[in-house]
Parts: sequence; structure tokens; C-alpha cells
Amino acid sequence: MNETNRTKTPVDAGDAHGPDAIAKTDVETEVPHAAALDYTAYDRCELCPRRCHARRSEGHAGLCGTTAELRVARAALHYWEEPPVSGESGSGAIFFTGCPLRCVFCQNHEISQEGFGLPVSVGRLAQMMLELRDQGALNINLVTPLHYAPHVAQAVRMARDAGLDLPIVCNTSGYETLEAVRAMEGVVDVWLTDYKYASSRLAGALSKAPDYPEVAGAALAEMLRQLRAAGGRAEGPDGRMTRGIIVRHLVLPGHADDSCAVLDRVWKLAGNEVDISVMNQYTPNAACRLAGGDLARGVTDDEYEYVLDHSDDLGFERLWWQQGGTVSESFVPAFDATGVEGPELG
Ligand code: SF4
Repeated sequence: MNETNRTKTPVDAGDAHGPDAIAKTDVETEVPHAAALDYTAYDRCELCPRRCHARRSEGHAGLCGTTAELRVARAALHYWEEPPVSGESGSGAIFFTGCPLRCVFCQNHEISQEGFGLPVSVGRLAQMMLELRDQGALNINLVTPLHYAPHVAQAVRMARDAGLDLPIVCNTSGYETLEAVRAMEGVVDVWLTDYKYASSRLAGALSKAPDYPEVAGAALAEMLRQLRAAGGRAEGPDGRMTRGIIVRHLVLPGHADDSCAVLDRVWKLAGNEVDISVMNQYTPNAACRLAGGDLARGVTDDEYEYVLDHSDDLGFERLWWQQGGTVSESFVPAFDATGVEGPELG
């Protein structure tokens, strides 16, 4: 990712979108205390908000496209996350197969929707984390992992018992149940979470998830509760985030107003307790190009500036933004099973 701090511009006190326009509220703390997830969660799956009740333990795939067989598409150093995550050395990214949120514009469709990935044991997943550490990774970056939450929690515990001392990053679409997020307390150090839509209509049209805005807001509130309980944002001397939340938002062509509404929600919920990352890297995939309309093009400079100006006006102090061209596939790694096969831990 090619980001830098954007210079914060002065806020016009009369601006209807300024920070005074939105009162920051307390985080809702009345969340269910779910028991730690175990492998019975795959028997009749409710691991994500789809709650499709797939019998994954019996080999049936749910709406996320996965059974209870853990599958991974790539485990390698990754340099394109936000600077507090990737730094100079790279993040140790592990890309999981499948995704409950099937966005029409997905850039990772080979793994999220087409099922690419190899079956691995939980011991192999733990060993991958140690191998990424030995390669110099700044952290272990679990990319869309929570439909495998029982495996992931066990693998992190195994790796830590074997000496893993890196922050664990959970890189998520934001479409998560409170139970799953809560079960990751003490497992995840850094939440790298999307907040994709404020409009239920848009979320329904593009991800078949009209409940996304509320679900993602509740999940973010729980992440924030965990962060506060742990003592707030922290970083190492090298600038790497060791504890915290980065809320990501991808600006979609033709939907800059919804982007501003997303930023309003995040500001109201969390203010400057989170980093915000506003991205312009939207790239139309083949299906979007074929369908035509706004999603067949990239985000214009004017659209991106409009959203970034709104971020500034709200008062976000840790704002990450992208320089350069808007359309690029360079942020999508090769899904070729790099680093997936190898020895098991334990
Ligand atoms: S994680 Fe997959 S199987 Fe489980 S509820 Fe969600 S879509 Fe269904």
C-alpha cells in the first residue's frame, strides 16, 4: 500500500459535516459473553452473520463456500497494508479460503468465491506463523479468517506456546458476529477491519447483506470495547502497531456520499481511538466491467478528494490515504499456495 499521513486541513466551524455536527457517543458495552468457540461450532454453523447452519463438520459447505476443512491460499510477507501494519519489513499475511461476504467487486475472488486453497492442519497453520516470523514479518496478518475461528484461535495459542511473540492482526470484512469477535479477545491484538457501507440498500445490492451497516457497527463497537479494556492503542519503537484498530474504507465509484456516511458512523462511534484508512484502489473486476455503470470504472480524483476532505473535516488525526493512480491490481498478491505446504507444529 502506498500511503502517507494526509495533512489535516482546518475545519470550518460552520461546516455541517464538521466534528460539532456529530456528537461522539459511548460505546455500547452490553454485548453477549459468548463461550470460547470450539469445533462444535462447525456442526451447525453460526460463525458469521449469515447463520446459514451448514453442517460443515459433515463436509457440507456453507454460504462462505467452506466446510470444516481448514484451507489456506497463501502465507507470505505482504507489503501493501497500512504502514503501521506492513512497515518496511512486511506483514506475515495468511490468506484463508472462502468468505461469508460475497461482494460483486471482490478483488480476491479466486480465494473468496472460487475456492482456491489447500487443506492444512491446525498444526501446519501454527507452524506457518513461526515461519513468517523467521522471515522477518512484523506481525501475523490473518486475512478473512473468522469463518475458521475455532482453528485460528487454537493455532495462535499453539504458536504462542512455541514462542511466537508477534502481534496478531485480524484482517476482516467487518461482517462478523459479536460472538466471533468476542471469542477473539486475547487472541487478536490489532483489528484491521473494513467498514464498507452505511447504506443498507447498497450493502444488499453489492454484497447481499442489507444488515451490513448495523452488523459492522456492532462488531466495531465490540473491537473498541476490547481495545479499551486492553489499555488502548499501542505501538513499538519502530512504529509498528502492537495493539489497536484500523478501520478501512474502500471508496466505490459513484458512491462518495455513502463513503462520507460511513466515516460519520466511525467518527461517532470511535473518534480518534481508531486509525482510519480511506482507499481509492477500487479496480473493476471482469464481472463489474461486463455489467457496466459506475462500478465498471475507477474512482475519480474528485470523488476521492471529496471523501478525504470529509475525513479531515470530521477530525480524524490518524488518517491513511493512498497516493498515485486509482486503478491498480498490484495490491492483489498471487494466489499460488506460496508458503502453505510444509511441516506441522506439535
Ligand atoms: S461461516 Fe460460512 S457456514 Fe458458517 S454461518 Fe457463515 S456462511 Fe454459513
